[in-house]
Amino acid sequence: MNPPSIIRTSTAELYDANVLKNYARPALTLVRGAGAQVWDDAGNRYLDFTSGIAVSSLGHCHPHWVAAISRQAGELIHVSNLFRHPNQGELARRIVQRAGPGRVFFCNSGGEADEALIKLSRLHGLAKSGVEGKCIKVICAKNAFHGRMFGGMSATPQEKIQKGFRPLVAGFAFGELNNLQSFADLIDADTAAIFVETIQGEGGINPCTPEFLRGLRQLCDQHNLLLLLDEVQCGVGRTGKFYAFEHAGILPDAIAMAKGLGGGFPIGAIWIRDRFADLFTPGSHGTTFGGTPLACAAGLAVLDVFERENILETVRARSGPWIEALSKFIAEFSNQVVAVRGKGYLVGIQLTSDPAPYVAALREHGLLVVSAGGNVIRVFPPLVATTEELAQSVGIFRTVFSAKA
Ligand SMILES: *Cc1c(COP(=O)(O)O)cnc(C)c1O
Repeated sequence: MNPPSIIRTSTAELYDANVLKNYARPALTLVRGAGAQVWDDAGNRYLDFTSGIAVSSLGHCHPHWVAAISRQAGELIHVSNLFRHPNQGELARRIVQRAGPGRVFFCNSGGEADEALIKLSRLHGLAKSGVEGKCIKVICAKNAFHGRMFGGMSATPQEKIQKGFRPLVAGFAFGELNNLQSFADLIDADTAAIFVETIQGEGGINPCTPEFLRGLRQLCDQHNLLLLLDEVQCGVGRTGKFYAFEHAGILPDAIAMAKGLGGGFPIGAIWIRDRFADLFTPGSHGTTFGGTPLACAAGLAVLDVFERENILETVRARSGPWIEALSKFIAEFSNQVVAVRGKGYLVGIQLTSDPAPYVAALREHGLLVVSAGGNVIRVFPPLVATTEELAQSVGIFRTVFSAKA
């Protein structure tokens, strides 16, 4: 038998011919990364302040993380949830330690974590009303993003996300972010939960104020509703606290997390407060891949490095001056910049116009960033970014904004 003939085709051609066309990508092929930097196939270097959309929390190829997943890959990669594995037990313990008394379920993505929270709201509604399908209302925020699966998509009131996929899952209602009364007005006897991002990411880096979060906590306590927080983007250290809600001093009833948790390896998780953790009974939910030995090794390595390298303290210390330097742009380029928002290394620069040409120009100057809704550029340095790299990013912004002034 002849070996299959190898036809050398460019990556661009391979994508054009074979990859689904659901993304409009720039002409850039990345082949290598180290820390906050990545290289393209022509040898050009970029400062990666996308962190793979808030995923590569330790930057690219952190030596401790690489060693941990390499070792685990040679030992045991997958066993399914039919059996226990030490890594899953240990990662669950560390999450419980960070969040509070409760239990953890592992999955593979943010979308799956959100889906599990939505299913939890149904179980709570059933426990509350005693009737299946009655108490199913979940109050979410306008401009939210909860992933692309049917539950999360139905909780995401954006035409560009929902268009073409109706009918959606029933039961979602939408209040105004940071308008407590608008949420209170939507509560009725058939309401099971309130579900919001602590800081809206895709929507343009719109944080819940601490007062709003505390108000939601009170509403949930008064009406026996679950307070569900989507920390898929803002959690796991990105704001300088392990969870973004810690800044408000509240505790939700359940948390969805994913992106930064595996440092680049796919893993998602939900934590459920102990009072509600037994709503999921044997057989009520599951996953084949969730929480594999390898994925949990990646998560454990991320949390190890957080502790060894004082990552959260460092993010808190470095982000203030960096955000301040970025904020100075508002004064200098007020015809181009409306506001700089965010916390830690979760920052949005709201422009007066479409961010696409800016994202392209920044890339040409060696800085990768992500656009978001509402004319916002999202800047996500890896949590290990150096002060020099942060300063470098400010310089590149200055160059690009000056050229467009
Ligand atoms: C990215 C994101 C999701 C979806 O996560 P996937 O891993 O892409 O499924 C859900 N919620 C929020 C807040 C996100 O930022």
